[in-house]
Amino acid sequence: MTTAQPLEFQAPTPSPLALLLLGRESDPRSERGVECPGDLPAPSDPDLVERARAAKAKLGDKVFVLGHHYQRDEVIAFADVTGDSFKLARDAAARPDAEYIVFCGVHFMAESADILTSDAQQVVLPDLAAGCSMADMATAEQVAECWDVLTEAGVADVTVPVSYMNSSADIKAFTGKHGGTICTSSNAERALRWAFEQGEKVLFLPDQHLGRNTAVRDMGMSLDDCVVYNPHKPGGGLTAGQLRDARMILWRGHCSVHGRFSLESVREVRERIPGVNVLVHPECRHEVVAAADHVGSTEYIIKTLEAAPAGSKWAVGTELNLVRRLANRFAAEGKEIVFLDRTVCFCSTMNRIDLPHLVWALESLAEGKVVNRIEVDPEVAAFSKVALERMLALP
Ligand code: SF4
Repeated sequence: MTTAQPLEFQAPTPSPLALLLLGRESDPRSERGVECPGDLPAPSDPDLVERARAAKAKLGDKVFVLGHHYQRDEVIAFADVTGDSFKLARDAAARPDAEYIVFCGVHFMAESADILTSDAQQVVLPDLAAGCSMADMATAEQVAECWDVLTEAGVADVTVPVSYMNSSADIKAFTGKHGGTICTSSNAERALRWAFEQGEKVLFLPDQHLGRNTAVRDMGMSLDDCVVYNPHKPGGGLTAGQLRDARMILWRGHCSVHGRFSLESVREVRERIPGVNVLVHPECRHEVVAAADHVGSTEYIIKTLEAAPAGSKWAVGTELNLVRRLANRFAAEGKEIVFLDRTVCFCSTMNRIDLPHLVWALESLAEGKVVNRIEVDPEVAAFSKVALERMLALP
């Protein structure tokens, strides 16, 4: 049995890529590019809505626009379908007649859509700077080094990688190559149960919180069964003994949006709104999840609020664009929905996709010019697909 690591989660080592968001360069180690070529329409252009409508109408069935739940309202207004990342990738694959898939989401989602769609379909991300800070917290080089550390500790051959959908194609390919599976926040428990039938330990990438919450809350493991591998420390900051004793080796990554909710936010909202139900995403920290009334994926959050009785009160811990839309949608039914935190908490990279970028992408496609195409290397795509198909085959 290992000694439990203190649950000191934040103040992470910043991604070396963070500042590139402000620039116009690219970093090959990132899961995203950062350069956004082309002349964008001015955000103040009063005709933006009409321009988007006209370009989309001109493209007709050739284009299929996907909108992730966390996108802005102005973008969601043009989405043919909305959903979480995996649902959207499957929706795209189910529309083989659509030559262009415009993915209003972030880079790893567009990669997954490219992996799951046919070669004849081209996936476009309206702003290449729309990456995911969590996905960037696990690079291919860091994960390969981690596997060497596990090998030296004599545990690699009993360890099964399980990678969250929110990871780069490189990490998905690593997972496929090493006998592992992808999971979403809806099926993480099933993925872990499957993985523990294949081996003795799981290397969970890149979100430590989803891994810990699933292992401890849903599967009854103890916090002592989990260790955190820090890619910024030699040997991940762990001894060979700690690696041998652990059942869950959690990568030190987190979502910068969900990681912000704190136990204090839960206490404060319970005091402020008597009788409130606290509903959070499993990417939140363990103590927040433990204090919540309901925990689940974005699809679960939406379904729970749909089924909630009139007059009920909810504090929701997930991305603000979605919470605000749900609050507006259900206000007429007498359901009171508030954001769990007092401060504004959008996903800044999701918000990179705005109406000017969408108009630019659609108008370019309507002129026959494919911009910001996301194309995954064929070998990476093949191994990623192995891991994704293992997920689809989960019992
Ligand atoms: S909400 Fe979190 S996990 Fe989702 S794209 Fe933004 S940073 Fe990544």
